[in-house]
Amino acid sequence: MVEANLEIQQRIKELRGLLQKASYEYYVLDAPTISDAVYDQLYRELQDLEQQYPTLITPDSPTQRVGEKPATQFQSVQHNISLYSLDNAFNFNELKTWQERSQKIAVNSSEIPTYVCELKIDGSALALTYENGILVRGATRGDGMTGEEITQNVKTIRSIPLKLALENPPPVVEVRGEAFLSLNTFEKINQDRKKAGDALFANPRNAAAGTLRQLDSKIVAQRKLDFFAYTLYIPQPDNLEAIPSQTQWENLELLQTMGFKVNPNRQLCSNLEEVIKYCEYWDQERHNLPYMTDGVVIKINPLSLQKQLGFTQKFPRWAIAYKYPAEESPTEVKSVTVQVGRTGALTPVAELNPILLAGTTVQRATLHNRDRIKELDLHIGDTVIVRKAGEIIPEVVKVLLELRPKDAKRFEMPSHCPECGQLVVQPMGEAVTRCINESCPAILQGSLIHWCSRDALDINGIGDKLVQQLATKKLVNSVADLYQLTVEQLMSLDRMGEKSATKIVNAIAASKTQPWSRVLYGLGIRHVGSVNAELITQKFKSVEQLIQASATEIEGVYGIGPEIADSVYQWFNLPANQNLIERLKNAGLQFDSSQKIEDNQTRQSQSLAGKTFVITGTLPTLKRDEAKKLIQNAGGKVTDSVSKKTDYVVVGEEAGSKLKKAQDLGITLLSEEQLLTLF
Ligand code: NAD
Repeated sequence: MVEANLEIQQRIKELRGLLQKASYEYYVLDAPTISDAVYDQLYRELQDLEQQYPTLITPDSPTQRVGEKPATQFQSVQHNISLYSLDNAFNFNELKTWQERSQKIAVNSSEIPTYVCELKIDGSALALTYENGILVRGATRGDGMTGEEITQNVKTIRSIPLKLALENPPPVVEVRGEAFLSLNTFEKINQDRKKAGDALFANPRNAAAGTLRQLDSKIVAQRKLDFFAYTLYIPQPDNLEAIPSQTQWENLELLQTMGFKVNPNRQLCSNLEEVIKYCEYWDQERHNLPYMTDGVVIKINPLSLQKQLGFTQKFPRWAIAYKYPAEESPTEVKSVTVQVGRTGALTPVAELNPILLAGTTVQRATLHNRDRIKELDLHIGDTVIVRKAGEIIPEVVKVLLELRPKDAKRFEMPSHCPECGQLVVQPMGEAVTRCINESCPAILQGSLIHWCSRDALDINGIGDKLVQQLATKKLVNSVADLYQLTVEQLMSLDRMGEKSATKIVNAIAASKTQPWSRVLYGLGIRHVGSVNAELITQKFKSVEQLIQASATEIEGVYGIGPEIADSVYQWFNLPANQNLIERLKNAGLQFDSSQKIEDNQTRQSQSLAGKTFVITGTLPTLKRDEAKKLIQNAGGKVTDSVSKKTDYVVVGEEAGSKLKKAQDLGITLLSEEQLLTLF
């Protein structure tokens, strides 16, 4: 047997301490301090360690218990049939392992193992007892064997029948299901609590559990709990688990007949593929439900097979909960690096042990700034909680102090810029640490990336790697230098052929038609996002007007506050920036929206007026619509079909019959590059 070293013993001890504390907060106080996903993963870590070192398992380990001891304010009740927890699968492989294992155990059975998929409602389990058809007892799950008697509260739930809709009810009927709150009600409860200055419930599940444990059943009635039934037992005096039907599916139907609400989104599946499809479908669709779900419960349908498979100490072997990908997870901070952005801001980034979050592998998470690190009290070596939701950049939201190793080192922000080595500054009243060296390579690279980004000048094909090469080879020292780049210069860079170089030069040239608002945004002035740039350029139609404006005049723009106005004012007052504007103007960029129309009109009459174009195939850099707009702005006409009246056909890749027709008619063919030279 493998011996656990001291470090592992310590980790096990710490994990147990943390999980026990979390369980207490969750089950007894109904006020969790970590999310379920984080709990689940720490629990899994403990489980794995215990499996590796079984001699270290103790009876009080959280892995050996279901729930918590019942709270003391209600009378304890002994459950006739234990309420188990559910084993978890966090991905489809684990689901497959469960299915194969259960199939192996049930190998001698003649039954075909079909599966019932039910949504896992995020509420609180209830055990209901009916005697001669009348509800006599409602109890919480508690630790699985002993729960709290909350019959008065249960009776306030409208979807729980007080009397079963059966003509000749059996002497005893046991029903299990989930009491839950709709998302609307949950929000309303929290709003009321906020008004009253009470602590908010972390999620609908804790709110439901907390509500069921209210001593005043009038309050419970007001909270509008709901209930979905999912388990039915009809015990006989000589056989506690006599079952009225042959399958879980039939049981659900029977529960419905008896007057219970059964979740309509259930499905009978004949194999694992169908189960997986169901899970995938509900991963998206569950967000449209009026209540919270955190997964799918998959149950083996034939009850005879369930019986054969039985239970472990904690779970039925015939059921499993598939949990949807977590948006939060614990992981270890291996080191902290510091990134320098285009505004010179130093951003500390936690380098992590890779974790899977919301379907993607996360290895780095932002720590925002010095103040945030202090607030988190982050040390290198800490176990932290990382969150990534939707498109949001992963961030460290909490440090699990209980799991801090002895040799963890505090992280301090550097006093010098990691990119250029210059002393950094900490401006008064700002949380940000900043490099103010104008020739810092990181600032240049950041501003180039920003200039080329989609919402700014939208220049395709210029990414991080290219920018790095352009800056280090000193081909580009400011965004204005982009407009001097030649195909030959670009071809001197790594892995850059003539075709790609030409594409890039064309894409840069095409950006000259981008409007003044995008140019302003592209300049990367602090606090000027694309919306603010739009607002400012609506009032200041040209860069000259903006340069002449005072900070107060800029602040006069609707939606622009003093901080933004000051930032714009300061930026345009720096001679280096005015010089940059001059260079960009000379390169042909748009700094004037009032003139643009007249200019275009003049240009139109001079250049493409009266000419008819057809575009065919995929152009290397311009989208079809962009090319069309350019031609139209210069007075040209774009039609769909080639005829004798067509002057030019612009040809891209995979051009079809239009190219052939143009060739037959002897019409001038243009590449995108040739088209751009016409403007
Ligand atoms: P569980 O919630 O993972 O699964 C069992 C429960 O699922 C049942 O008791 C029942 O209430 C519910 N359920 C919903 N729909 C169901 C259906 N159709 N069929 C059967 N059951 C259904 O397990 P658990 O033992 O209740 O709780 C353990 C979980 O609680 C952990 O996995 C964790 O996510 C959470 N927890 C969180 C913290 C925390 O600090 N955040 C602490 C302790 C526990």
